[in-house]
Amino acid sequence: MARIVVVGAGLGGMSAAYELRDTLGKGHEITLVGKGDLFGFTPSNPWLAVGWRKPEEVTLKVADHVGKHGITFNGDGVERIDADGDAVVTATGERIPYDYLLICTGPKLAFEDVAGTGPEAGHTQSVCTTEHAQGAWIAYQAFLDNPGPIVIGAVQGASCFGPAYEFAMIVDADLRKRKLRDKVPMTFVSSEPYIGHMGLGGVGDSKGLMESEMRQRHIKWIVNTKVSEVRDGEMTVVEHDAKGQPGESHVLPFKFSMLLPAFKGVEAVAAVEGLCNPRGFVIVDKHQRSPKYPKIFSAGVCVAIPQVEATPVPTGAPKTGFMIESMVTTIVRNIQAELTGETPDYEGTWNAVCLADMGDTGAAFVALPQIPPRNVTWTKIGKWVHVAKIGFEKYFLYKMRNGTSEPIYEKYILGMLGIERLKDVKRSS
Ligand SMILES: Cc1cc2nc3c(=O)[nH]c(=O)nc-3n(C[C@H](O)[C@H](O)[C@H](O)COP(=O)(O)OP(=O)(O)OC[C@H]3O[C@@H](n4cnc5c(N)ncnc54)[C@H](O)[C@@H]3O)c2cc1C
Repeated sequence: MARIVVVGAGLGGMSAAYELRDTLGKGHEITLVGKGDLFGFTPSNPWLAVGWRKPEEVTLKVADHVGKHGITFNGDGVERIDADGDAVVTATGERIPYDYLLICTGPKLAFEDVAGTGPEAGHTQSVCTTEHAQGAWIAYQAFLDNPGPIVIGAVQGASCFGPAYEFAMIVDADLRKRKLRDKVPMTFVSSEPYIGHMGLGGVGDSKGLMESEMRQRHIKWIVNTKVSEVRDGEMTVVEHDAKGQPGESHVLPFKFSMLLPAFKGVEAVAAVEGLCNPRGFVIVDKHQRSPKYPKIFSAGVCVAIPQVEATPVPTGAPKTGFMIESMVTTIVRNIQAELTGETPDYEGTWNAVCLADMGDTGAAFVALPQIPPRNVTWTKIGKWVHVAKIGFEKYFLYKMRNGTSEPIYEKYILGMLGIERLKDVKRSS
């Protein structure tokens, strides 16, 4: 019997716990350690921030669901990983030993990198967590009573651009519905070198399509930009040239702002000697395994992945839900292989697939594989994406409530798009 500990009860960690149980059967001990009692479906946060969803619609109590599948849940949070002693230590001092450890702790939000950003110590809202999106909804309601300029975007070093576009378009759609859009000048600021770059060097014709969408919605943009400081009600952003040299500076007033921060790895993980890169992201090989600690695997936003291309203002590569599921399946199959005496040489596809809602329509980005040159690369805009995104939310929450690891949506919709979780590699046994 193997003792498997999964740290982080988010999109990657919850999926991993269920998939481990499904694939390995009842004979192994699976413990999921989260921070708090709730799972929150992060992709719904932009809807939460404009009141289109309520928190109880996109969160669930982890213990109520995983318990039915014989998975032990501990919500105390991991404070320390004793990688040499094969155990994690929770915030209450409990020591949980493991034969295999899966690190799925997502991002630490590095608001401290840009002065004045973030909902706690700064002046900008965030949609990165359920709590942040709830806070943004409160601020947005106050804004509706006293509308004015809005600034939305992603700062230097950010990697997750999809939700910034998504939120700008959703706010635009919401304001139009409320007949307030004419009172709200909107500006999109981004560290990307051009609109539609997405941290992916563009996806098909994403540049042209997204620029056109922004023009039609009267959203101005400033790209290749660093946010130098945010103050109460205004921010300074500096455009950069193709060589990354600072150029024109703009002071943008706002009555409401949401800026996505750069990400880092969480402290408990970043502190493990030799496990992470300098930003605290877990270094893994193509089998999702730590080269230094073979009992440790990692999946999700906490994994170190290479930048797709160098950009004048620093940007990172996004890690999207389907890519994370591919990482999870790779880990589960490798652990299964090892437990049954086979060679653990499964590899994930790391395809980038992103459905960005735009309130009444949406944009789908498909990049297979993530790093160019690609076999498949396209962006399409249409109402079907808005519907598909709602389908993704319902399917994922169903999956997290019921513990199924691959229901119908994934099999058919992603199959249709030619998206597979595992690489078709010639295996050695
Ligand atoms: C606003 C937003 C919208 C997004 N929308 C999409 C989308 O539409 N489609 C898409 O494909 N991708 C989307 N993504 C990207 C990605 O799919 C999500 O960020 C996803 O939630 C990442 O999954 P994860 O498991 O890596 O991290 P998370 O889901 O963030 O889970 C990490 C979990 O680890 C926990 N944790 C952290 N530290 C500890 C600790 N020390 N001990 C125990 N637990 C800990 C956290 O509390 C959290 O619950 C979006 C990202 C953001 C920020």
